[in-house]
Amino acid sequence: MALERSTRLQAAGKGALGKCPACGQGRLLRRYLQPAEKCTSCGEPLGHLRSDDAAPWLTILIVGHLLVPFVIPIEAADILPPAVSSIGWPMLALVLAGFILPRAKGLFLGLLWFDQHASRVVDGACAPPTIPPIPGELPAET
Ligand SMILES: [Zn+2]
Repeated sequence: MALERSTRLQAAGKGALGKCPACGQGRLLRRYLQPAEKCTSCGEPLGHLRSDDAAPWLTILIVGHLLVPFVIPIEAADILPPAVSSIGWPMLALVLAGFILPRAKGLFLGLLWFDQHASRVVDGACAPPTIPPIPGELPAET
């Protein structure tokens, strides 16, 4: 099973590279940011993974930390003409965000896959989900 070969960090790394977190061979994303329904190599279901706003959040964090150390001193020194700086910085931010966003999404999908997969595996077999009893209710008869 793929879990024995993958740690959380490896699953995140495979996802960041756009590869299936289970086998590392198939594609994780079908389009730019759309997860594949299942891995083309090992058949692992991937379409149910949802990273929501985590990838854009991480992308903004990284792009901001990459650009701000350059933007502030260059703009304070007034080196660039206004037209160049007003177009150049946003374009650079867009290019960086476009490069980082699918990798950030893959990273989070890899982490989500690992957490969901690890919670299903108990002693090498898939365990049914455990639902805690509601306080005040009797446990269901099985
Ligand atoms: Zn796979």
